Amino acid sequence: TEEKSLHFIEQIIEDSLSSGFPQDKLRFRFPPEPNGYLHIGHAKSICLNFGLGLKYDAPVNLRFDDTNPAKEEQEYVDAIKEDLKWLGFNWTEELYSSDYFQQLYEWAVAMIKNGKAYIDSQSSEDMAIQKGTPTQPGVDGPYRNRSIEENLILFEGMKNGDFPEGSHVLRAKIDMTSKNMLMRDPLMYRILHRHHHRTGNDWNIYPMYDYAHGESDYIEQISHSICTLEFVMHRELYDWFLDQIYDDSKVRPHQYEFARLNLNYTVMSKRKLLQLVQENIVNGWDDPRMPTISGLRRRGYTAASIRKFCEIIGVAKRENIIDFSLLEFCLREDLNKTAPRVMAVLDPIKLVITNYPEDKEEWLEAENNQEDESAGFRKVPFSRELYIEREDFLEEAPAKFFRLSLGREVRLKNAYIIKGESVVKDAAGNITEIHVTYDEDSRSGSGSEASQRKVAGTLHWVSIKHALEAEVRMYDRLFIDEAPDSHKEKNFLEFMNSNSLQIVKGFVEPSLADVKSDDKFQFQRLGYFNVDKDTTEGKIVFNKTVGLKDAWEE
Ligand code: ATP
Ligand code: MG
Ligand code: MG
Repeated sequence: TEEKSLHFIEQIIEDSLSSGFPQDKLRFRFPPEPNGYLHIGHAKSICLNFGLGLKYDAPVNLRFDDTNPAKEEQEYVDAIKEDLKWLGFNWTEELYSSDYFQQLYEWAVAMIKNGKAYIDSQSSEDMAIQKGTPTQPGVDGPYRNRSIEENLILFEGMKNGDFPEGSHVLRAKIDMTSKNMLMRDPLMYRILHRHHHRTGNDWNIYPMYDYAHGESDYIEQISHSICTLEFVMHRELYDWFLDQIYDDSKVRPHQYEFARLNLNYTVMSKRKLLQLVQENIVNGWDDPRMPTISGLRRRGYTAASIRKFCEIIGVAKRENIIDFSLLEFCLREDLNKTAPRVMAVLDPIKLVITNYPEDKEEWLEAENNQEDESAGFRKVPFSRELYIEREDFLEEAPAKFFRLSLGREVRLKNAYIIKGESVVKDAAGNITEIHVTYDEDSRSGSGSEASQRKVAGTLHWVSIKHALEAEVRMYDRLFIDEAPDSHKEKNFLEFMNSNSLQIVKGFVEPSLADVKSDDKFQFQRLGYFNVDKDTTEGKIVFNKTVGLKDAWEE
């Protein structure tokens, strides 16, 4: 194993271990809110937290942060678990913030009794005005000094469902003049008469994120609670809530912040991804154009390539924007090693070998993956009539055109050298057939002198009578702007790429007759493709996963 320098969170952990923190008390968590599917940004947090668990042999909990019944659903819980498993990580315990509702309620009651929380009965507008601004301190509201008895009665009433939504809230009693706006008596509970996906109608009040999160970390005895940079200002509040309940025989959780992953040409807010789904701008959360884990998986991404990407981008304290091509680079590196090579023609034009016997067919040997000897060989059928790619032929070509043209020779991959002889055109002047002759002695691998002959280029092809038809979905980026959600005056939906999906009818070699969903291939010279889940008995559907950086050189 190679020596790698520690990232700053590993450094923090190493420091606490060397100052006496017991290694067996290290504990981490990944805390998704089940209000959408996981995306590539979450993968960074997953690789970080689970990576620490592996490195230090420490537990990592999967904690569903389900404190907002208005947006959360079981479907999302199931999808998150599936994506995590697919990424290759195993959690220690599956836990839910909602499991702690009773404990959180009891702690809130204790805080009321200690004079650390009160019921505010103003409108949210009035409370917002009293809160002040970053440069102006807030002022105390009229309910701030309610008696403990009255607060307890009202809080109990809130819990029992006696009051309408918006009529009361529970607030922490901290400091309306704090420099940190989040410390100006933040909300702890609001009334919501909502069905919760796990607790049903048991609760009429739900805790706010800032209150629930740190206390949940404490309940689970999480030592290092890692979140993204936008929570830096929340840390003071996280610590304040812990101060109210901390017992020094226990591990005290600490919050650490790292830079979130930003990728160009996409959006990563779950709210916006949900909008794309709900407005049918994409075909579901797992649409292959989505930056979701399920979308990337359906597109043909491998879990290894996503983990590798997270390793390369690293963990830092400063925000930046990562180029999508880095993710594609990681994918290509992986698929290059693992994806079998096959031939497919996606924009076919008919090619006739006029000196090849009409009733003859040959099954030629083809190497499955030159990067992997163990992948072996297969047979591909060859006959007089083939498809080649339309762009691989020019009637009159410039000298640097290393493909087929009249009077010039090219090799057909795994087969023979052919020479362009003539074309057949329709009434409009479009080429409908290319006629060529072949050199019978030039078969690849035959060892003959003619087989060693160097020609300008090598083309892929399929035999028309043996080829299988396939639907091939070609994708382009979903947005035409590098940062679609960065525009103040324009909605991100204004930057949709209207050509992000193109469906073509292609032809593939018959070795692909029995493919199954998610099988991955390199279509030689075209890119990497995987089998889509829409494939049925009678219809093969491929997704273009990613292009090749270079067409092969031979
Ligand atoms: P959104 O704002 O889209 O709803 P979120 O951050 O609220 O996203 P959560 O489900 O709360 O989504 O996130 C779970 C964990 O994943 C959190 O710890 C969060 O910090 C982390 N995370 C979310 N987005 C990113 C990102 N782009 N880069 C790194 N970590 C992320
Ligand atoms: Mg969120
Ligand atoms: Mg969140």
